[in-house]
Amino acid sequence: MSLKSNPHIQHGGYDFLYHLGINTKDVDIKKLFNDVKFVCLGGSQSRMFKFVRYIGAQLNVKIGENEEPFNYAYKTDRYCLYKAGPVLCANHGIGIPSLSVVINEIFKLLFYAECQDVIFIRIGTSGGLGIDPGTVVITTNVLNGELKPVHCTTTLGRRIEHPTYVDPDLAKELANLFPDESFDTVLGTTVSVDSFYEGQGRIDGALCDFTDDDRETFLKTLQEKGVKNIEMESIGLFSFCHRAGYKAAMISVVLVNRLVSEEPTEDDEARKVWEQRPFSIAYRFIKSRLDKAQGIS
Ligand code: URA
Repeated sequence: MSLKSNPHIQHGGYDFLYHLGINTKDVDIKKLFNDVKFVCLGGSQSRMFKFVRYIGAQLNVKIGENEEPFNYAYKTDRYCLYKAGPVLCANHGIGIPSLSVVINEIFKLLFYAECQDVIFIRIGTSGGLGIDPGTVVITTNVLNGELKPVHCTTTLGRRIEHPTYVDPDLAKELANLFPDESFDTVLGTTVSVDSFYEGQGRIDGALCDFTDDDRETFLKTLQEKGVKNIEMESIGLFSFCHRAGYKAAMISVVLVNRLVSEEPTEDDEARKVWEQRPFSIAYRFIKSRLDKAQGIS
């Protein structure tokens, strides 16, 4: 049997998932990972460390010895890979190139482990457009920096536009599961670009060759198109998962209202609280799906 999204990848041979530091000949991938139903991805290793502890405690499942999460990617310092029952948790770094490396290796891992019906969720941060910092955006549409719903790559010297797909029912389900009213959750379009500074219309990078007026016009255009936030991974996430046959969602907390300021909040305490908000939405979703699977309504 071969991987649907790449016939070159077959079951039974050996594979070294290089950036995860996992060699399929050294570990029983199926035994370790066959029960995975959710893959949660976030930028930094420390955020995913906190997330796996949180999700492990909420689901009451073992995440390692003495409550210390076991990092399956311990042989490398590129990425972390934790597991809390059916939830695999990894960091993807910043931007689509970094995401593409880890997600390719996770797709292969899920294939070798013969996992079924897995859903990917990015629990991230972003810059908001006309919404207060601390608000959570659940993505319903995704656009690239040219405001097209495609992920452009250069492959074998050719420019390719890969389609994206955002599942509207999954996005609505996530938004409707929100447990309390201590913060706002909105559904909306996300713009995903390859840079934090120029690509997001920031004039405070070291490199900038546009004017303040250009920037304002760009942000206004985004607002007119229903864009709620800007970040650096979702166009890759929704394209890679679509190509590989997985459903995906993005839950992203806004760290700055870009109509008011360029810089994400300097308030560390507030940021720590805000970063937890996507955690609770992801947990509620996972719990409700697990309950449904067990016939608990
Ligand atoms: N991440 C981004 O890509 N942009 C922001 O403004 C904040 C977080």
